[in-house]
This record gives sequence, structure tokens and C-alpha cells, in this order.
Amino acid sequence: AGGLERHEYDVVVIGAGGAGLRAAIAAHEAGARTAVVCKSLLGKAHTVMAEGGIAAAMGNRWPEDSWEVHFRDTMRGGKMLNNWRMAQLHAQEAPERVQELEDWGALFDRTDDGLISQRDFGGHKYARLAHVGDRTGLEMIRTLQQRTVQLGIDVFMECTITELLKDGGFETGASAPSSTTGGGAIAGAFGYWRETGRFVAFAAPTVILATGGIGKSFKVTSNSWEYTGDGHALALRAGAALINMEFVQFHPTGMVWPPSVKGLLVTESVRGDGGVLKNSEGKRFMFDYIPEFFKAETADTIEEADRWYEDKKNNRRPPELLPRDEVARAINSEIKAGRGSPHGGIYLDIASRRTPEFIRKRLPSMYHQFKELADVDITQEPMEIGPTCHYVMGGVEVDADSQESAVTGLYAVGECSGGMHGSNRLGGNSLGDLLVFGKRAGEHAAAYAAGLSTRPAVDEADIKAASTSALAPFEVEGGENPYTIQHDLQQSMNDLVGIIRTARELEQSLVEIEGLKERARHMVVEGHRQYNPGWHLSIDLRNMLLVSEAIAKAALAREESRGGHTRDDFPQTDNEVWGTKNLVVTLDAGGTGVDLSEKPLPVLPDELKKYFD
Ligand code: FAD
Repeated sequence: AGGLERHEYDVVVIGAGGAGLRAAIAAHEAGARTAVVCKSLLGKAHTVMAEGGIAAAMGNRWPEDSWEVHFRDTMRGGKMLNNWRMAQLHAQEAPERVQELEDWGALFDRTDDGLISQRDFGGHKYARLAHVGDRTGLEMIRTLQQRTVQLGIDVFMECTITELLKDGGFETGASAPSSTTGGGAIAGAFGYWRETGRFVAFAAPTVILATGGIGKSFKVTSNSWEYTGDGHALALRAGAALINMEFVQFHPTGMVWPPSVKGLLVTESVRGDGGVLKNSEGKRFMFDYIPEFFKAETADTIEEADRWYEDKKNNRRPPELLPRDEVARAINSEIKAGRGSPHGGIYLDIASRRTPEFIRKRLPSMYHQFKELADVDITQEPMEIGPTCHYVMGGVEVDADSQESAVTGLYAVGECSGGMHGSNRLGGNSLGDLLVFGKRAGEHAAAYAAGLSTRPAVDEADIKAASTSALAPFEVEGGENPYTIQHDLQQSMNDLVGIIRTARELEQSLVEIEGLKERARHMVVEGHRQYNPGWHLSIDLRNMLLVSEAIAKAALAREESRGGHTRDDFPQTDNEVWGTKNLVVTLDAGGTGVDLSEKPLPVLPDELKKYFD
């Protein structure tokens, strides 16, 4: 009685979104004893919310499409800061991964010839997103989940990992990690059951982080409660590095009204299917915001833009389908200039451009979302929308081929990994990323585990320390509750580290984060360990604060504007200084903050340079 629940595996996957499930399937198929651990119910991961589709150059609509064009689009969308090898592998392997999903039972929408249909999205030269209406993520998760269950992979639901365990002691930050010396290898993971509050320890020589994003650190976000940057923080504390953390994607179109749904996503498919953006004067303003970089491939008249929907060969794309960072900034400028809608957004209009039947068929979820939540009929009136924190490009620095981090045995995949998307992700490229790199991580982790002659051992002292740290908020008297700290963090990140940034505000945000960290040290939770959301939040908050500091510090250091990072005080893209390096975030010596350093970008090989002439 009272003993700690223990399990032993070859591969422990943390996270049951597309990345985690695909990794677990690959590890299992490679013969590894595999477990998936997830914070909420299986099937409830972020991936289920994905609407638009999976980008893959299958060429079903455009035979001219190829991995080379997809690769080029991805690199250009990321403003050339992507890890080229990841962008290449992704473009090359995504078609096979989509086909495989179909083989496993996913039912995609079809072309008239019976092929998997592909739709247009911002930044993609050709219609490329394999989709299921506007519910693609649901079909993807359903398929992967079914296969996971069929294969008999062990799933630990509503179980939250709070610490990674390493051979020879878990890092307390005493020795500052670098990318060459990660300390000991991974030995397992430690967490708690949400329902009972009891602890559980996994012994495993490999852990695959697949925990998704960080959006809950911002007030207005399309992300749900789970996205508190746990994987990012776990990796940092274990001695791995993060890259690209200054790049946060603000999706141009989130709901702005009513307040209870502010930030909820309005899929880019609305624009892909003909929707246009208008200001309060009824003007299609995106024509005023076409940057030099994309001029050659963007329509500069309404007539050409409208013709494109019917004849894509002889016309250039509408500016509403520029990459997300461009569109979000343009919307922000219009609102700031006083040409916004009554609730502080601008208008997204598909009603005046497509028939009600078309809209209901192509965008069923959007139709219901607005009808039910905002009492707006999108077949009759425009939607009010505005930018919302959506995705983090930054994540754990990994080897492109294997997804292994600087810590032996620790892998990261999906949204919690970094490099693939550079400074800005193209729509549809996340779902492809999950499948391509999920499979790779699972296979590499399984192979590494199988090749070990001795296994790293979990240190009992580390288990004790992890449990003491998790329970600390119960020991505090008279402190503050975690909800007020979370609220203030979200407000601060939104106001000071949002879509348009300045040195003054970023410095202010770092002061505020320090203050919040201090308040968090005296955080108190009420009640006991059975299903106690306040306690869970107190544990998540440590991660949110660490990751928020990483974002703010990197954003302050990068004195230029690029992709998802816009500095009002440095509005130009500075290729000379910033086009060839990444900012790297590691845990500081005290173990509760982060340090920044710089690292050259992997150099694009000559045979790939030709795509960017
Ligand atoms: P997630 O699916 O986010 O899963 C994370 C998992 O980790 C969950 O199971 C969670 O419970 C678990 N977890 C987290 N922390 C812990 C912990 N400490 N312990 C245990 N488990 C933990 N991308 C596209 O490519 N196309 C689209 O059309 C598209 N539409 C989108 C629409 C919306 C509304 C949103 C929010 C995103 C969309 N994206 C889209 C982005 C894409 O959905 C996500 O980037 C992607 O699904 C992330 O997948 P993932 O597997 O990395 O993580």
C-alpha cells in the first residue's frame, strides 16, 4: 500500500496527438514495447481540431506539383530559416504518409476522378491539402487512434508527465547544458494520474515528446487548456535546447465575438474557398499589403484575383492567400488605423461570394460554429474576425533525420519540436509534419532501445525530488492561487509579446515574468490530490513561465522582422545579420530561467539552392 505505480517500456511517447500516435505506431511496429501517455482523453488532442487539411505534393489536382515545389514553398513561407533537411524530408515523405492513412481507413474527400482531393491554402503554389471537409484532424485522429488500439499499444489517459528522469540524476540546472553535453541519457518519466492525483513512474531508455504547443500562455488563442508548453519545458529541464522560440504564429482569422469564444479558429479554408477580407469601408484591403517578396506570384487586381478561383493556370493567387504572418499583420494594421469592425476585428466575407449550398457543403463546421456560438449565418452575412495565437514554430532542437534532441534517448516531434517551419509555418504543413516525423522518431527510438546492452537506471532520489516538487504548492501557507498568476501571464504575453513587438515592451514583459515567477514560488493550492485542477495548473504554470521567458528573451534579441516575429522598432528583414543563424534557448544555471545563445543555420546544399534563384 502506498507504493509508487511503476511501468517499464522501451519507448514512452508523451502526447496522443497526430505526432505521438504516429510515433507510437512506428515504435510498436519496429518491435518496441511502447506506451502512450496523455494528459487528457485519447482523441482529445489538438490534432482533432485541425480543419483545413494535410499538405502533401500528391499531384492529384496539379500533376505539376512535386516535392521540390512543396519544399520551396515551405522554405519561402518560413523565410528561409527552416532546417532545410526537415523541410526536404517533409516534402518528400508527406504523400506516402497520407496514402498510408488512407490504407488504414481514413476517408478523404475525392476529386471527380476518385483521387484524394486537394485544396488551396496560403503560401502553397498548388492545391495541395488532402482534406475531409473542414474536419481533417478528426479523421486523422480517428484513423491513428483506431490503429493504436488495434495494435494493442498501451495508452495511459489523463496522466500528466511532470518530469523526465535521466541516468545519473535528473538535471536541476546545476550544470548548464549545451547541445554537445546533454548530461546523462534518458531513463524514464514521472507523472500523476489526474483523477486520483497518485504518482506513476515509467522506466524507459527513450522518451518521445509529442506534447504540442504553448498557446495557453496567451490570452487570445485558438489553443485549448492542454497547450502549456510542457514538452518544451521538460526538454529544457532535461538539458535539451529549444530553437526558433521567438516565432509564434498568430493566425489571421479567429473569432472576436462573443467574448466567450474570442480566439476560436476560423479556418483558412474560408479564404481558400473564396472568402475575402474587408475593412469597415467595405474595401478588400489585402491588395495594399503585398510584400515585395511575394509580388511576382500574387494578383494585384481584384479581377485577376477573382479569376484565379476558376483558372489557376493563367492567374496569380489572391493576396488573401499570402502566408499567415503577412495577412495577420495587415489585419492588425487595418484595425489599428480605425477601419475595424464593431467588436475590434475586420470582416471575412464568403456570403456575398458563394452560394449557401456551397458554403454549407465545404465549410460545415464553420457554418455551425458561427450559427451556434455567435448567432451569425455565414451564408448571409460576413464574419467578424481578428488574429489569434495559434501555433509555435519554436521547439526542441532535434536531428532532422531521427528527431533526437541533444539528450541521448530524448526525441521530440510535432509542434513541440523546432526547425521544420523556420520563422513561419504554412497551413497544412503541421499535419504532414506530425506524420512524417512521428514515424521517423518512433523508428529511431525503437532502434536505439533495441541496440542497448545495458539500460539507463532510474535514480530513486530523482523520483523523490519529482514528487516533492509536484507537491510543493500543498505545503505553502497563505500564498496566491495559480489562476490569478495564469491570468496575469496571459494578459502580459498578449499585450507585450504579441503580434507586433518593441524592445521596450519585451523588456517590460521580462520584468513581469520575473515577478510572476516570484509569485509562483508562493503559489498555494486548496483541497487534496483527487481531481484537483488548481493543483494541475500550478504544475503547468512552471512550464508556462519558463516557455514564456524563452519566447520573450528570444524576441528581444532578434532585432529584425521575419515571419511570425514582427518588431516595430526593427521593421526590416535583415538577412545579413539574422538570415544565417538561430537563437538557441537553454536552461540557466539556477534551473528556473533560460539563457540565449546563437548557432549558425545548417547550410543549404548546392543542389537545393537552385530552387531559390
Ligand atoms: P497535439 O495534437 O497538440 O497533442 C498533444 C498531446 O500531448 C495531447 O495528447 C496532450 O494531452 C498531450 N500532453 C501535453 N502535455 C502533456 C503532459 N505533460 N503529459 C502528458 N501528455 C501531455 N495544422 C495543419 O497542418 N492543418 C490544419 O488544418 C490545422 N488546423 C488547425 C486548427 C486548429 C483549431 C488548431 C488549434 C490547430 C490547427 N493546426 C492545423 C495545427 C495542428 O493541428 C497542430 O499543430 C497539431 O495538431 C499538433 O499536433 P501534435 O501531435 O504535435 O500535438
